[in-house]
Amino acid sequence: MKILVTGGSGFIGSNLVRLLVEEKGESVINLDKLTYAGNAESLADLEGNPNYTFEQVDLCDAAALSAVFTKHRPDAVMHLAAESHVDRSIDGPDEFIQTNIVGTFNLLQASLQYWRSLEAGCAKVETCESVKANEPLDTADQRGDGSDLNTFIPSHASNAGPPSDLNTFIPSHASNAGSSSHLPTQKTFRFLHVSTDEVYGSLPSDAPGFSETHAYDPHSPYSASKAASDHLARSWADTYGLPVLVTNCSNNYGPYQFPEKLIPVVILKCLRGEPIPVYGKGENIRDWLYVTDHAEALYTVVTKGRVGETYNIGGNNERQNIELVRTLCSLMDELVGYGRLNIEDGDTQNPISDIPSPVSEASASSTKGPKSFQDLITFVTDRPGHDMRYAIDPTKIRDELGWEPKEDFASGFRKTVLWYLNNREWTDRILSGDYKLDRLGNVGK
Ligand code: NAD
Repeated sequence: MKILVTGGSGFIGSNLVRLLVEEKGESVINLDKLTYAGNAESLADLEGNPNYTFEQVDLCDAAALSAVFTKHRPDAVMHLAAESHVDRSIDGPDEFIQTNIVGTFNLLQASLQYWRSLEAGCAKVETCESVKANEPLDTADQRGDGSDLNTFIPSHASNAGPPSDLNTFIPSHASNAGSSSHLPTQKTFRFLHVSTDEVYGSLPSDAPGFSETHAYDPHSPYSASKAASDHLARSWADTYGLPVLVTNCSNNYGPYQFPEKLIPVVILKCLRGEPIPVYGKGENIRDWLYVTDHAEALYTVVTKGRVGETYNIGGNNERQNIELVRTLCSLMDELVGYGRLNIEDGDTQNPISDIPSPVSEASASSTKGPKSFQDLITFVTDRPGHDMRYAIDPTKIRDELGWEPKEDFASGFRKTVLWYLNNREWTDRILSGDYKLDRLGNVGK
């Protein structure tokens, strides 16, 4: 299967691309603008791999997007590219509107144009006369039975077997095994739109987790722009018949996360011996999912999910922010040891130089310092519009597609801290640029 992944150089994208190429044996085209959050270094290990191709393209460049479809002719799109940091959306919402809304619109249009060309049997999108990207299809004809999305049956597929076939993804290479003619079809093409639980807004402390039918109530420019893109994606399915699936996931953590998000900030602040900022009283609750579990879930949805459906993805791992930060500090106490940093001697210029590398379970044992990294925790002014609680009800993806997270709170956070300790060049290079771990997003109210 040939999969076009957008945002593959970002945090989740790079973990997903690695999973697809190395573990699933898929072929990936990574389309990424390489914003501040995109990092080609995160996929350096795939350079030269014949199953990996990189295209530096901006979602806002509609012509360049179409050209990528014409050139690569993917079986599926997994759309992750976005501006993703709530605090940056407060400081500068414009990029969020452009990339998350206009960019998603452009991608949907390019996908639709390509998908229509598959139905018409055209070899090349730009030479296909039947393709008029902005012209709505006769949806009654295209939608077959005119029923809701959960039973969506493209009309061209109605003679191709029982309707249940349509809910099972058939990679085009499976039917063309050994053939060099790679022919994705309308029946097999998928567009997976990757979104967030933040679109649902804040949950009361005693309410059950967000289900797929929970009403949208976004509160930040980031979540509002993602909500808009979710609506666009679903409407392209409803209106034009594009085979769209949507996922809404809780907070991810793990390797290759840009160090502006909570978990890398805590680890890096510890290593620098600097105050660890915790917004408000640290009482906000998030559900945390290890990033490779999310990547597995996305692969499961694009290969097994039912067209037109939404799947909520979560880690069964709700924590107050302050509890999370204390847990990370305890891990840092165990693996590094506060005393090793010589912070009390004022040696904070290069405080991590003493830490053995790579850090391993064995080397961690005798390094405990006299104090705890928890002493660095500092409560700061809350984020404007800060939602109090997000939680996911993952029943649907578990029961219908058999996906469950593999990592739990203990195993996932230990892996994550060890990764940041052992990949300090990766964060050092980022922090040698414009971003210096400074507070963002404090200008809203
Ligand atoms: P990220 O910020 O780490 O990566 C985003 C990637 O998109 C970067 O590589 C960036 O260069 C690229 N990009 C940005 N603007 C672009 C444009 N105009 N054209 C092409 N590429 C562009 O984000 P992430 O944390 O990996 O999140 C990926 C997706 O998952 C996003 O859609 C996000 O909303 C969603 N999501 C994230 C989380 C999370 O906890 N991080 C949780 C749920 C859903």
